[in-house]
Amino acid sequence: MNSEFSVKTQPLLQVKELHKHFPVKSSLGLTTGHVKAVNGVSFDIETGQTFGLVGESGCGKSTLGRTILRLIEPTSGEAAYEGTNLFALDRRELRSYRQNMQMVFQDPYTSLDPRKRVGYSIEEPLLIHKKGNKRERTEIAMALLRKVGFSEEHYDRFPHEFSGGQRQRLGIAKALALGPKLLICDEPVSALDVSIQSQVINLLEEVQEELGIAYLFIAHDLSVVRHIADRIGVMYLGEMVEQAPTEALFAHPLHPYTKSLLSAVPVPDPRAKRQRVMLSGEIPSPLKPPSGCVFHTRCPYAMEACRHTVPERQLVGPNREVKCHLYHQ
Ligand code: SF4
Repeated sequence: MNSEFSVKTQPLLQVKELHKHFPVKSSLGLTTGHVKAVNGVSFDIETGQTFGLVGESGCGKSTLGRTILRLIEPTSGEAAYEGTNLFALDRRELRSYRQNMQMVFQDPYTSLDPRKRVGYSIEEPLLIHKKGNKRERTEIAMALLRKVGFSEEHYDRFPHEFSGGQRQRLGIAKALALGPKLLICDEPVSALDVSIQSQVINLLEEVQEELGIAYLFIAHDLSVVRHIADRIGVMYLGEMVEQAPTEALFAHPLHPYTKSLLSAVPVPDPRAKRQRVMLSGEIPSPLKPPSGCVFHTRCPYAMEACRHTVPERQLVGPNREVKCHLYHQ
């Protein structure tokens, strides 16, 4: 298409300057500080695309996913679904919007009640949102069971009768019940064996192709994210330090933290040379993040400016941005 006439479509989800700070209380109930779990994160997710979110554990990626859905209330910022700011909705309006956005959890037991038959658990969102009658809800649950690789006879079984990978497929079926356009998948394969991980990833890809659903896919395993994501955001200590199309990020990582993360990913060709970028020190506490660039205490390229000046988000190419003084223009 002639770029002169191309029109940028509205993203499905647009997150702007999202902050989530948790107050820390003393034994007397006084607020003594704040844990800055998410600190000014902005990104978009396009319809039918997968945005992968990576970073070490404790970097704020799960909190970010939950805050977008308002399972945790934000401190400030905006999350616009098809142009509507979810953070400005009242409870009733939010409930209606939630049908479009569902969550797949790391532990499927979070969404499957161990005392309830799995067919009932899959139907439950339809019941809560008063969709259809009993027969229609059961038909939808049966169809979803088939979609995720089970037969109708599994409808009456209990979660404990399934393996971990099977339970995750059931969790996905339940998340699909209301016909969402966005799934927030919070480490959905991290607890599974590698062989089972690929089954669940393949299922998510098939579902995306068939239904055009977008994913926010949260994981710490970069190989998995590379496989499924169109675009990747790298988080460190509550901030998104780099985001780029997947192949561009892997071919040419810019931020020193991204470089160190990617250098630890195994390469399939044993002859391929890659220099491991080792980081010294532990991740600082989000209760007291470093001044200036949050990464400066571990960065091999840190300069004087990094210790006191917060780097701005820099656009550094088509659809790429990075927060680092090395790329300041
Ligand atoms: Fe390293 Fe400085 Fe860039 Fe931060 S701003 S990543 S400390 S070079």
